[in-house]
Amino acid sequence: MRIVILGGGFGGLNAALLLGKALQSTPHEIVLLSDAPCFLFRPSLIWVPFNKRQIKEISFPLNEILQKVRVQFMQKRVVSILPKEKQILCENGTRLIYDYLIIATGAVPAWEQIEGLKGNTASVYNAHAALQTKRRVGEIKVGQPILIGVAQQNPSQGMAYEFLFELHAFLHERNVQCPITFFTYEKELFNHKGKKVTLILEKHMKEKQISHYSDVSITKVEPGCLQLSNGVSLPYSFSLILPPYKGAEFIFASPDLDHENGLLVTNKGLQSTQWENIYVVGDANAMKEYKSGRAAEVQGKIAARNILNRIQGHSRQQEYHPDMLYVMELGTDGGMFVIRYPGSREGTPYFEWAVDGYLPHLMKLAFEKYYSWKLS
Ligand SMILES: Cc1cc2nc3c(=O)[nH]c(=O)nc-3n(C[C@H](O)[C@H](O)[C@H](O)COP(=O)(O)OP(=O)(O)OC[C@H]3O[C@@H](n4cnc5c(N)ncnc54)[C@H](O)[C@@H]3O)c2cc1C
Repeated sequence: MRIVILGGGFGGLNAALLLGKALQSTPHEIVLLSDAPCFLFRPSLIWVPFNKRQIKEISFPLNEILQKVRVQFMQKRVVSILPKEKQILCENGTRLIYDYLIIATGAVPAWEQIEGLKGNTASVYNAHAALQTKRRVGEIKVGQPILIGVAQQNPSQGMAYEFLFELHAFLHERNVQCPITFFTYEKELFNHKGKKVTLILEKHMKEKQISHYSDVSITKVEPGCLQLSNGVSLPYSFSLILPPYKGAEFIFASPDLDHENGLLVTNKGLQSTQWENIYVVGDANAMKEYKSGRAAEVQGKIAARNILNRIQGHSRQQEYHPDMLYVMELGTDGGMFVIRYPGSREGTPYFEWAVDGYLPHLMKLAFEKYYSWKLS
């Protein structure tokens, strides 16, 4: 039996580690395919523009990690999937056959969905973008207007808030005073994570004199000026705006895969609703939930266990239920820890709790250190 995992991020790597350990002394073959040679701990990209992390400190070679659990690593770019033939087509023409497939190839910015956005905003989405942003924040001058925001349909808003507070701290340290504005399409600041979260963020923005707008979308972007749906025009010299997401290019190039904007639909067991031997985890999944590394990790492990169960002849399939454990950096004020769990019974309210201060900042560091320890 051959299990192929596409993607070496939180979802794919955790699935591979679990399957590798469980199937080490069996004849089953596990292959992880990724177009990048390393696992990148993306939550720490938030620190790269401010010179608090170097890319090499947060990159871990997949080959070395996977060798330890006898998972084969192939650095290749997938260009298409042929689910009827159970085949994966790679860039150089290589074809790989699978019995089970886990798709964990994440999502990419859909810049084209908002005209004018591409090229007029910085990004921290990947290593290359974070390094470009590092150069640009170093060029910000006193008095230049700064705009940070979350465009409509972005499913991972936390990093915009983190960037906002980290940038404020960076400029404050250098005594570079600039008017900063924040906007989001969310009804209130980070509001679907509970009212307490919104109040904490409002307090920190007020203290730092950051003006903000919520429940707004972008209507027009031009170099140096952005218009919101409430009629407000915001000038900017530097901007970082999170765009909408879409799935990886190869999904669009796979005619037998039904998708929603490149994202794949699954049941609660993370099994494709279209192809029973395909599982989809993390940002690549069309599930409407907050997209995070932690969610991708949990989903990767569930998909791996569900495949294991099937190989071992059990019909049991574990279900994924979205929850939230999130740590957000708050610049000079440490961080904020957010918990949101479904009630114990169907229909009962969510348990929600949030706290800010230095301890949550230490928790974010611990998340990073845990991965560094686990992958070394
Ligand atoms: C700045 C920033 C801060 C964040 N902060 C947090 C945080 O504090 N906490 C948190 O939980 N989450 C955070 N996130 C979100 C988190 O990083 C993502 O949700 C997570 O990386 C998604 O994991 P994934 O495995 O689904 O996809 P990804 O991490 O995107 O991995 C996708 C993998 O697929 C590979 N791939 C893609 N296309 C192909 C192809 N065609 N062929 C072969 N391989 C391919 C890629 O190389 C990569 O290995 C942050 C993200 C950013 C950018």
